[in-house]
Amino acid sequence: MFDLNALIRDNVKNLKPYQSARLEFSGAAELFLDANENSFGSVVDGGFNRYPDPLQHELKQQIAAQKGVSSEQIFIGNGSDEAIDLLFRAFCRPGLDQVVTMPPTYGMYDVSAAVNDVAVVPISLTPEFAIDLPRVKAALQPPVKMLFICSPNNPTGNCFDAAVIVDILNHFNGIVILDEAYIDFAPNKSLLPRLAEFPNLVILQTFSKAWGMAGLRVGMAFANPVLIEVLNKIKPPYNVNSLTQQLVLKALEQVEAKNEMVRQILTQREWLTDALQTLNFVLKIYPTDANFILIKTTHPGEIYHHLTEHGIIVRDRSRVPLCEGCLRITVGTPEQNQRLIDSCHQLDQNL
Ligand SMILES: *Cc1c(COP(=O)(O)O)cnc(C)c1O
Repeated sequence: MFDLNALIRDNVKNLKPYQSARLEFSGAAELFLDANENSFGSVVDGGFNRYPDPLQHELKQQIAAQKGVSSEQIFIGNGSDEAIDLLFRAFCRPGLDQVVTMPPTYGMYDVSAAVNDVAVVPISLTPEFAIDLPRVKAALQPPVKMLFICSPNNPTGNCFDAAVIVDILNHFNGIVILDEAYIDFAPNKSLLPRLAEFPNLVILQTFSKAWGMAGLRVGMAFANPVLIEVLNKIKPPYNVNSLTQQLVLKALEQVEAKNEMVRQILTQREWLTDALQTLNFVLKIYPTDANFILIKTTHPGEIYHHLTEHGIIVRDRSRVPLCEGCLRITVGTPEQNQRLIDSCHQLDQNL
């Protein structure tokens, strides 16, 4: 049986959270003289002399409406990276507990684990980049507290079979963190509509990719309200600044503009896939559900070097196990993609 309370670290269970002024009194008043803010105002316009809403109520209301969840199921962080770190701090005792990852995958899981002195048990994907279900299931036992699933996966680009993820959710009595950073590019593949079925599920999404707001640092975690409460309890009180909250609210009003960009990116992804196919040095183009394409090449080092010389930077993943010879390419605009392909053809004839 899944028992969330038993997974929470004792120090977290017992701690009395910081009571910010805005939490203690959050109603309407004429005179706020409780937070030692500058009552005269700010040297810049925008009402920035006031502390931001610590729980981002307005933002959560809008996100809840768009995503079909309740505000109590939402945590908002300074990037999804903050949510990842808080999950470690809430559930994993340094030097004792462990987490499972499925490489090749997002590098932040390992970094966050190391920062928190938590050992990682890596269970490789299969050579076809599928979850190795028997081995993963066998690994999911104490002292493993959490499992990271990145779907669509970075850097491979593929989504994992929903039935396999559900199987794991039903099998594992720890926390399953499903990182859906790229889910906007994979229509109908999110597990968010089924969130309420799984008390051990945390879904991560972000404003950094499809929404084009990586510079603002805003990530979301969706989970059952008790788990969200734990994250709220240990987060820095004002973790999302007020300018960011305003800008994300504005962005949410323009969901159609985001969707239009996603459509354009998907069109370009197809164009780029076709164009890459014409190159001799491309051995394989992996199927992708994200805004990037992983390709296996004959000469990753030479290609990377050649592109860099021409002012084009891609991600060299060729030293990552299972990604030998691979480069990861973010889908660009039509002009950017054309320039990339022109430069590739130039090299392709001389290899
Ligand atoms: C880009 C990315 C994120 C986004 O992280 P933020 O901190 O929200 O910018 C999360 N997970 C994966 C797998 C990513 O590739």
